[in-house]
Amino acid sequence: MRIVSLGSGSSGNALVVQAGQTTLLLDAGFTAGALRSRLKQARLAAESVTAILLTHEHRDHAFGAFSFARRFGVPLVADPRTLDAAYQRVERGQADPATLAGAWRVERIEQVERVELAVGRSTTVGGLSVRSFAVSHDAVAPCGYVVSSGAWRLCYITDSGTVMEPMIEALAESSLLLIESNHDRDRLLNGSYPWHLKQRILSPTGHLSNEQTCDALLRVLDDAPRWVWLGHLSRANNTPDLARSALRERLRQAGLRHIEPQVSPPGVGVAWDSASLWGSAAPPARQPDSREQPPQADAVPLAPARAARPQSL
Ligand SMILES: [Zn+2]
Ligand SMILES: [Zn+2]
Repeated sequence: MRIVSLGSGSSGNALVVQAGQTTLLLDAGFTAGALRSRLKQARLAAESVTAILLTHEHRDHAFGAFSFARRFGVPLVADPRTLDAAYQRVERGQADPATLAGAWRVERIEQVERVELAVGRSTTVGGLSVRSFAVSHDAVAPCGYVVSSGAWRLCYITDSGTVMEPMIEALAESSLLLIESNHDRDRLLNGSYPWHLKQRILSPTGHLSNEQTCDALLRVLDDAPRWVWLGHLSRANNTPDLARSALRERLRQAGLRHIEPQVSPPGVGVAWDSASLWGSAAPPARQPDSREQPPQADAVPLAPARAARPQSL
């Protein structure tokens, strides 16, 4: 499984996950043209994209979704409420203007294939298993995703004002953990943002602070080899050094020096390839959890989540 961040932050988000013949875009917060050129930088053709998965309808996540989907004949996968909200934004002209040159283009947007995946459900897309889970954000049906290829798993969490148990479970079962580390709380409180914006970001449906992200990660990280990417950093209220050093310090205190966090930059950035880690070897074994997963009619069975570390540790 190969994963490349195509950009992360309030100016746009997209991540590409590729395994065998399957290539997924997680979020499409850039124009179709920018997505195409960013994919090219990651040595992938836009024509190779199998599907786009959306976490929520905000512009920095869905801006180019419809135009890219139409141009390259790619289905959009998301909760039906998210698909509706993203479509309404296109109609209102808040999405990629390339899609809005005329009414006929709006009609063609309706030809984009919609694949509804309700929050909390699972499916397969090509050779990849996908499970969505709830996050807490001021969007209609925000979610994160666990994307699996065999035993390798990516957890993708962005835009959440608080950490909920489904997020902890998703982090606990994954090898590569991409999670928002949006702001330094003091910088935000003492910064120049208007009070209503500060309140929005700090609210339970806003964005995760460095401290909240560290708390969540420290609940799930252990001696096993894992990879952590911090994403969606605020340009005004955070820096890569602040986010990284906050987590490094907490990892040091917990005796987890083997984990080296990286930051997903606004441009094409960090990459991860399971093939370069252990060759054809399997990822580290996980201890199965005794918790039962609720049955899902159309779900692809996934191995149970590993037990999360209790919050007190
Ligand atoms: Zn958002
Ligand atoms: Zn966002």
